[in-house]
Amino acid sequence: MSDNRVLIVDDNEMIRDVLTDILEQEGYEVDCCSLGEEALKRGENQPPDLFLLDISLPDIDGLELCRRFKSKNPTAAVPVIFISGLLGMEEKAAGFKAGGADYITKPFQNLDVLIRVRTHIQLYKNTRLLESMMDTLEEKVEQRTRELRIAKESAEKANLAKTEFLANINHEIRTPLNGILGMLDLMKKQPMNDDLEMYHSLASFSARHLSAVFSDILDYSQLDSQSLKFNYRTLRAGEVLEKLCRLQQIRAEEKGLKMTWTLPGAEKEFVSDEVRLVQIINNLIGNAVKYSNNGTITVECSIRDELVISVRDEGVGIPASRTEEIFTPFLQLESPYTKEHSGTGLGLAISRSLAVSMGGRIEVESEPGRGSCFTLLLPEHKAPFPVSSEKGTGSAETGRSLKILVVEDNTVNIYLLQNILESAGHEVFEALDGEEALEELENCSPDLMLLDMGLPKKSGLEVIREIRAREEYKSLPVIAVTAYSQRQDQESFEEAGITAVITKPVSEGELLEAVGRFR
Ligand code: ADP
Repeated sequence: MSDNRVLIVDDNEMIRDVLTDILEQEGYEVDCCSLGEEALKRGENQPPDLFLLDISLPDIDGLELCRRFKSKNPTAAVPVIFISGLLGMEEKAAGFKAGGADYITKPFQNLDVLIRVRTHIQLYKNTRLLESMMDTLEEKVEQRTRELRIAKESAEKANLAKTEFLANINHEIRTPLNGILGMLDLMKKQPMNDDLEMYHSLASFSARHLSAVFSDILDYSQLDSQSLKFNYRTLRAGEVLEKLCRLQQIRAEEKGLKMTWTLPGAEKEFVSDEVRLVQIINNLIGNAVKYSNNGTITVECSIRDELVISVRDEGVGIPASRTEEIFTPFLQLESPYTKEHSGTGLGLAISRSLAVSMGGRIEVESEPGRGSCFTLLLPEHKAPFPVSSEKGTGSAETGRSLKILVVEDNTVNIYLLQNILESAGHEVFEALDGEEALEELENCSPDLMLLDMGLPKKSGLEVIREIRAREEYKSLPVIAVTAYSQRQDQESFEEAGITAVITKPVSEGELLEAVGRFR
């Protein structure tokens, strides 16, 4: 116990000796002094673990001495036990008020002194231990927080680097891929035997699929690193859905499926990101078509506090135990060996991530063999924006309204083109493949055609050649909208009779400017 030190302050030598004896026998290290001033000095230089203090001292009053110990470090927390012949309650109260921890009256019992000294030293030491543990703990927490912050920052940096890398590699891969697609289109004009035609169509399918996979991966990685920017506007969700459903209906009917939609409150305004909303719903309807072999696809929409859009199908369905799993990136329920449907397994992961980033969610109910219902619930974005369908209405006054046939196999792209053109006052007709383009041309007699060059059934090049072969369409302006941006691609398009070329991704301004030349 030699690390427990007691300072006795008493002007009576005999009492000092007796107390010293009692404490030293129990292993305490004892120091004594007879005056207050001296006690103050010793306390400051070498603070003990306990003061035993007489109240009546020749120089400083014991109570005052206690107050001074308590007023500053290093003695502020050191316990003080008064040891005095003054018995009154008032004196005891004054002692506690001055900061004393205990009070022993003279004449004292040895045991009484020992027990009180032991208790208060133990209390004092435990408190200090606790304090130092708290300090260490706080230090550890601070250090851990610092380490976590550094780890988070470096993870964010790495994530950003990953996104940038993906964006670069996407561009680097897309350019030669567009070259491959362009060459495949050119190849199609050469005579091919049945085998070659099959190889050609498989190669085209794979190249297009690869291009879609890259778009999905880029979207997903941008969402993952939260670098995807949202563009909120006031829109009319009902109108957005109406257009989207009409486009998807063609796909559904091709597969022998029925498609219906009920969109009450179609005029109601709602602030959201139109492109991303279309992307989510397009994916949900696309899946409903993909994973149904018969039955009806029903789209319903309501707007109250939030926008609620449900897409119900009567297709293959999903086991209840797996309805959460399907939102995992790259996860597909079909075994890769028996897989019937193409896809990346990223569509739902992207859709959910987009919904969550906009403050919403996607819910799913499904039963194997009976179909599925996916519901998007989206709160309104809280900021005022101009009504999107009013954008560009002014530009309609700058020229006549055109009848435009848009030929494009990607539903989201066709939706966007249609939206921009209709907002500028044009009337838009659409076709989803090369054969449909030629049929629709007869039906709508357009003033202008926007032609995607990479199309299913008949390529853009075949379409333009057939058009130019007919007398009545020799002078119809046809703008190629294409990802094939190489100079030789453009030359071959022009050679085939294309009037002008705009490259994807198309900006609103570029499109309106190109179309405006034919007003
Ligand atoms: P992909 O369709 O490209 O495979 P998704 O992320 O869109 O990827 O969907 C993940 C998986 O969820 C699909 O592979 C499919 O197994 C399942 N799934 C999605 N929608 C439906 C649906 N409407 N009916 C049945 N299964 C579905």
